[in-house]
Amino acid sequence: MPHPVTDPQPAKTAPPAFESWGRYPRYDATIVPLNWQGDFPGVMAGLHGGALPVGLGRSYGDVCLLKDGNLLQTTGMDRLLNFDPETGILTAEAGVSLAKILDFAVPRGFFLPVTPGTKYVTLGGAIANDIHGKNHEAAGSFGNHVPSFELVRSDGSRRVCSPTQNPDWYAATIGGVGLTGVITWAQLKLRPIVSRKIDYEGIQFHGIDEFLDLKRQYQHVEYTVSWVDCASTGRNFARGVFMLGEHSKAPGELKPSPEPKLSVPFDFPGFALNHTTVSLFNSVFFHKQMKAHVKTVQDYEPFFYPLDAVLHWNRGYGKRGLVQFQYAIPWQHAKEGTIEILREIAKSGLASFLAVLKAFGEIPSLGMMSFPQAGIMLALDFPIKPDLTFPLLQRLGDMTLEFGGRLYSAKDAAMTPAQFQAFYPQWQRFAQFRDPRLNSSFWERVTGGE
Ligand SMILES: Cc1cc2nc3c(=O)[nH]c(=O)nc-3n(C[C@H](O)[C@H](O)[C@H](O)COP(=O)(O)OP(=O)(O)OC[C@H]3O[C@@H](n4cnc5c(N)ncnc54)[C@H](O)[C@@H]3O)c2cc1C
Repeated sequence: MPHPVTDPQPAKTAPPAFESWGRYPRYDATIVPLNWQGDFPGVMAGLHGGALPVGLGRSYGDVCLLKDGNLLQTTGMDRLLNFDPETGILTAEAGVSLAKILDFAVPRGFFLPVTPGTKYVTLGGAIANDIHGKNHEAAGSFGNHVPSFELVRSDGSRRVCSPTQNPDWYAATIGGVGLTGVITWAQLKLRPIVSRKIDYEGIQFHGIDEFLDLKRQYQHVEYTVSWVDCASTGRNFARGVFMLGEHSKAPGELKPSPEPKLSVPFDFPGFALNHTTVSLFNSVFFHKQMKAHVKTVQDYEPFFYPLDAVLHWNRGYGKRGLVQFQYAIPWQHAKEGTIEILREIAKSGLASFLAVLKAFGEIPSLGMMSFPQAGIMLALDFPIKPDLTFPLLQRLGDMTLEFGGRLYSAKDAAMTPAQFQAFYPQWQRFAQFRDPRLNSSFWERVTGGE
């Protein structure tokens, strides 16, 4: 079934007030700020149509969009409320960014229990997508470290949710993509550190077998992630760099991070990114790590957030934007599925700079709709080429299904309803927890708004 592509050449009108990170699709919506925990649901009184709580818009597709609706922007609700250094439990409003939490926590010798590849996401957004990090095998996903939160519904009801208090609402809201209500505050259990430094190793690999050998060999290391070249075929097929890190045990500096200085100031022209530039970039990146095995000590910023060094790097994809494809395939078919899918991507010639390969561990997520599952995860960006990108995504989605995997809603702009409903067969049970006044363009697209 062809994907209903909306015109990827944006009209020459002002950009929408709120964009997701992929800048596709683009929809007009009314921004309604939530600055205080008591603002919702009162703000709904004067509004027409549905609403959706949003954070910093770091999701790639339409999970944080609502066409012609109201986006309840939570970033004004960003106060830190309480911290107990004995337990490491921080209580904060849901619109606080992980960057602000780090600025508070690191000087006190604490760090996030799980972090995505950018620190510019909110606490509420991290819970609603039940995000994962490089330590999934050791720590599970974000929700595993959230002892409790408050959920407010459009009928005015307020619930404190935890594994023992309102456990159904707790499970539905972790990974609940903003549809069960507004999370106003949450607790997060931080982990201790004694230094900003990370003991880092990078090891070249050639092919998925070598990747799997490294994964087994370094099972005990807390953070592992790989970069894989999706553009190369033949001898260089699935070459990559296996990167591992641990918080340094030697006491060191614990100061907050400086502000990033670089920013992509305008949209790159569409032609800036093509197969030749991508292949060149991948070659340079691979050979930058000239030695097959590099060992060093580095700051946590470049280790966890290399892309945050350049603000608005998504503009490098031009006005058409980008889409991301991210799957998790269970171990039973993880190897063959990954090889087949990488072959399909390389054949397409559309592969991007940023392909991340990682193993997910066995710790079960607490969310009813959470994405992670034990096996292999692959994530990469594609520039939007109207006739090519969506048919490719459709094929890759079908292949993921065939290998028993699922796609990540936070990164998606292309799943069909049939694919979504097969990836998440529990979706109808989840729909019973949806707040009737909340909706998203993602939910409309994959369920027809049930
Ligand atoms: C460079 C980059 C790297 C990334 N790396 C990773 C990664 O390694 N792992 C990973 O899992 N993800 C990753 N992501 C995705 C990102 O972590 C998630 O999309 C995250 O949820 C974005 O948070 P946000 O605050 O921007 O929320 P938004 O994108 O604005 O919203 C996300 C969802 O949360 C809901 N929501 C937001 N606030 C609330 C609230 N207060 N109450 C209820 N619902 C709410 C929204 O409705 C929406 O469904 C990455 C994104 C980028 C741009």
